[in-house]
Amino acid sequence: MTDTKKIMFLDLVTQHVQLEEELVEMFRTSLRSASFVGGPMVEGFEREFASFCEVKYCIGVSSGTDAVRFALMAAGVRVGDSVVTVPHTFIATTEAISQAGAVPEFVDIDEQAYTMDPEKVRYFLEKDCTLDNATGRPVSRKTGRPVSAVVPVHIYGHTADMDAINEIAEKYKLTVIEDACQAHGAEYFSQRENTWKKAGSLGRAAAFSFYPGKNLGACGEAGAVTTNDEKMAQTIRMLRDHGQAKKYYHSVEGYNGRLDAIQAGILRTKLAHLADWNEKRREVANRYREVFATGSEEVTLPYEAPWTRAVYHLYVIRTKNRDQLRSYLAEMGIDTGIHYPIPLHLQEAYKGLGYGNGDFPVTESIAKEIVSLPMFPTLNVEQQRRVASAVMNFVSAAVV
Ligand SMILES: *Cc1c(COP(=O)(O)O)cnc(C)c1O
Repeated sequence: MTDTKKIMFLDLVTQHVQLEEELVEMFRTSLRSASFVGGPMVEGFEREFASFCEVKYCIGVSSGTDAVRFALMAAGVRVGDSVVTVPHTFIATTEAISQAGAVPEFVDIDEQAYTMDPEKVRYFLEKDCTLDNATGRPVSRKTGRPVSAVVPVHIYGHTADMDAINEIAEKYKLTVIEDACQAHGAEYFSQRENTWKKAGSLGRAAAFSFYPGKNLGACGEAGAVTTNDEKMAQTIRMLRDHGQAKKYYHSVEGYNGRLDAIQAGILRTKLAHLADWNEKRREVANRYREVFATGSEEVTLPYEAPWTRAVYHLYVIRTKNRDQLRSYLAEMGIDTGIHYPIPLHLQEAYKGLGYGNGDFPVTESIAKEIVSLPMFPTLNVEQQRRVASAVMNFVSAAVV
């Protein structure tokens, strides 16, 4: 009867069972030291995650959303600025932009990679902006605001084309902040530097989320910023801790945005396994490619651009009749998701931005066709065969 057993979308239990002894021991140590916020556990994790991302600094914060917000603020994004990002992402990206006092302006994504299309950024800056003679900075015609930063999102664990984005950003004096919340350990081949680099080291700073379902997840809320910029690291340390570098000496008004010591301890324990878990995700992705190999034009498998080594936070296929496919898979006991069904520019929350249907055709067309299939390191080949054959059954029946 294993045949009819449910296939979960995500298995968050197995990794915790495997690490239970270690995690409980760490928790006991925390209880006995009663050091719950900041302290050696947080510093230890920050050191290790910085090293994992091949950067000098990591600043632990309370969520990925805060990580994006603090990175933007520390990079000098000001109230009244405009920040360029994509409509095909989780709303946290744009919430953080708004919380930093800026307004998000969208550019469309690449049809295959689903990440920010550098040519669309170039077009936006050349055609939809004027140059401020005094500052040399672009000013958006639509909002009248100066554009100060770009936030590419490494969606599904696949990095954006960062060389091209960095090159355009340099030309227009924009700061690049990576949203790496889905891309812990992903790599990018920089032709400019002729080397592979880690997500988190590809812009001025990067934001990570350790929400439980991410490739590296806490047992609660957590996030981090990575950067090589010492001044930015200092500013973010202040912002996360009520604007103080020394207790009760507040240089600015900050936030309560720190990383818990227990979460840091959990993350430290799990970080030791992240490279292995990512490798297993890549194996799962390769096996999906094999079990789907009978091929069908009705199903588009994920594309991995030559510039990236993706870490498959999600495994997203594209097909017509997506909603019927999901119901069929649910009947077959297979859980799926949609990341994300409504592009941000069409969300009710962003009515005020003045976008409409047709503004970002690539994002809009994929939003109707994407389905996220089960993906986690311990997904096995039998389960994957069941998923693939259910999908193929559905599409071949739907074609007739
Ligand atoms: C998860 C996620 C975030 C936000 O992270 P939280 O820790 O939930 O605040 C931001 N951006 C993207 C692309 C994400 O997937």
